[in-house]
Amino acid sequence: MPAKTFSDGEMVMGRWPGSNLYYEVQVTGYNKSTQLYAVKYKDGTELDLKESDVKPLNYFRMRKAHSRSSSRQRSRSRSRSRSPARTQAPKRSNSRGRETKKPMQKEEVQKEDVPALKFVHQENSTSSKPTSVINYKEAEEENSAKNTYRIVEHKIRKEIVTDQLDLPYNLRTKKQEKNVVELETKDDHLYIKKQAVQTQEREFGGRIGVFFIMFLLPFTVILLLLMCAEDDASIQSFPPPVPTLQMLWSSNALGVFVLWFLFQALLYLLPIGKVVEGVPLANGKKLKYRINAFYAFVLCAAALGAALYNEVNLSYIYSSQLQLAISAILFSVLLSIYLYVRSWRVPADELAEGGNSGSFIYDFFIGRELNPRIRNFDLKFFCELRPGLMGWVVINLGSLFAEMEMQGREAPSLAMILVNSFQLLYVIDALWNETAILTTMDIVHDGFGFMLTFGDLVWVPFVYSLQAFYLVNHPNELSWPVALAIIALNTVGYIIFRGANSQKNAFRRNPHDPKLAHLNIIPTAAGKSLIVSGWWGFVRHPNYLGDLIMALAWSLPCGFNHIIPYFYVIYFTCLLIHREARDERQCRKKYGVAWNKYCQQVRYRIFPYIY
Ligand code: NDP
Repeated sequence: MPAKTFSDGEMVMGRWPGSNLYYEVQVTGYNKSTQLYAVKYKDGTELDLKESDVKPLNYFRMRKAHSRSSSRQRSRSRSRSRSPARTQAPKRSNSRGRETKKPMQKEEVQKEDVPALKFVHQENSTSSKPTSVINYKEAEEENSAKNTYRIVEHKIRKEIVTDQLDLPYNLRTKKQEKNVVELETKDDHLYIKKQAVQTQEREFGGRIGVFFIMFLLPFTVILLLLMCAEDDASIQSFPPPVPTLQMLWSSNALGVFVLWFLFQALLYLLPIGKVVEGVPLANGKKLKYRINAFYAFVLCAAALGAALYNEVNLSYIYSSQLQLAISAILFSVLLSIYLYVRSWRVPADELAEGGNSGSFIYDFFIGRELNPRIRNFDLKFFCELRPGLMGWVVINLGSLFAEMEMQGREAPSLAMILVNSFQLLYVIDALWNETAILTTMDIVHDGFGFMLTFGDLVWVPFVYSLQAFYLVNHPNELSWPVALAIIALNTVGYIIFRGANSQKNAFRRNPHDPKLAHLNIIPTAAGKSLIVSGWWGFVRHPNYLGDLIMALAWSLPCGFNHIIPYFYVIYFTCLLIHREARDERQCRKKYGVAWNKYCQQVRYRIFPYIY
């Protein structure tokens, strides 16, 4: 093994990959097995360089003395490759054609398009010990055949807020390196493959926690519906009378639920709507999704219209709500069992990171498989927005008709109209922006198990419709000024919610979108950047804030006689605070120092100046 020529801490000249330019760098380490020098440029960029790309500090002075002409030649033919030291087109300084090129300082670099995150030394790209350093996608196109580096990341835009960063923003820490076991390119991108890892950190109190949650959740749904149906829906009259079996179970209700599910599945399969790709998975693949939820909703609305025209009594939904909920619970349990069993047949790299703990109960709850599919039918994607979300609208409509029937009204109450309209807007928004769901935690991170099947098929339709359900038996007359104030509140919430979600979704889909050029970002070692201005510079989860403001606006039309219509906003606050903490943990793991910087700059999580 050849001896190491340069010592740690020594200042040397290091070649910038993809070019013939050399800059003053400091040797920070040497890897004996790969025979690569770790070097640090003046702007903080760290690379691993081969020995042939490292020269002594006085190397060029010596060469210049020997051959001035060859030096001039090099100046003229310099690569266009962007390096950490490039500022602007070189100036020919004088008649002798000599060019003075002085390495840039950090501030100058920041005004340039700054190279992002990492290179992989090709010689090692198949090895199990990748070297990870920094580079720039653009330079890849300019690399010569001899180029020893493969550029793997996108360029980072000018608006980088590195003036607030006091450390090299684009470094991959040694600890993060341990996760990288294989790198491969596909479709001009690079993905990091992780071996199927066993879930180390269990959430929701581990297996004991999820065991209780699994019983508590269905029990809560039943209890809420029973209490809401009582004349006195107050906490004082808790617990409600024990229901008869007839009140709980009806095979007709089960039939209605299954038919509804199949009807939605049929609409999902219709070859209408565009097909889009999801975000890259850990194994480098991108799944394709048909986006037609909004069309499905329009067809549902037409079907409902036809049913009403034929005098189908929609208040049946209200009177059978408990039985329908129990049918949905049963269905979600059976679906979760199916999902758990089938997860044992899928390759390890298709499992969700969080649902692979080895504990049956925990993995059953969280979900082992990330994207279970029957051919092209994506079960998780389908359940997220269709049967439950559209079911919620239909259940609300059932309550609206039941209110008119039971209260002998010719038209629904203003409170009922507000609740129905606000929630209809929320559902239509989700369906219209169906692609946005592809970047959410549910799709990207969580497996499909009981947690999501129950959430999608039971919790959302039967708990989120509680306000309308409550109003049937507990009328609340609203004055117009109060109604207008509630509408204003819902509008504010919606603007924040939609603005934040659209901004992040657009950025994740195309970080170079000129419409987003005004945003400040923090690059991260994982390749993606974090938005640090706009909605995402206001609080760390502006979309949650907007969602919670809307949740309050949905409860207010029910008045202040009982706490039950506020169950949603209370529960939702707890859910989003917990969800934010989960996301925070994952982001810290993913983005390390960059996430800490983001937290320093955007101090509040959800509620400005409060939390
Ligand atoms: P988000 O859509 O907020 O996604 C979180 C992810 O966004 C992070 O993991 C990270 O992923 C990315 N991210 C975080 N900060 C930044 C940043 N500064 N810049 C760029 N990307 C960032 O979370 P959810 O999936 O929880 O929520 C989606 C929507 O659904 C929200 O509006 C929420 O309110 C709503 N929701 C509604 C529920 C309901 O029951 N009604 C339940 C749950 C959510 P990465 O970097 O990997 O892209």
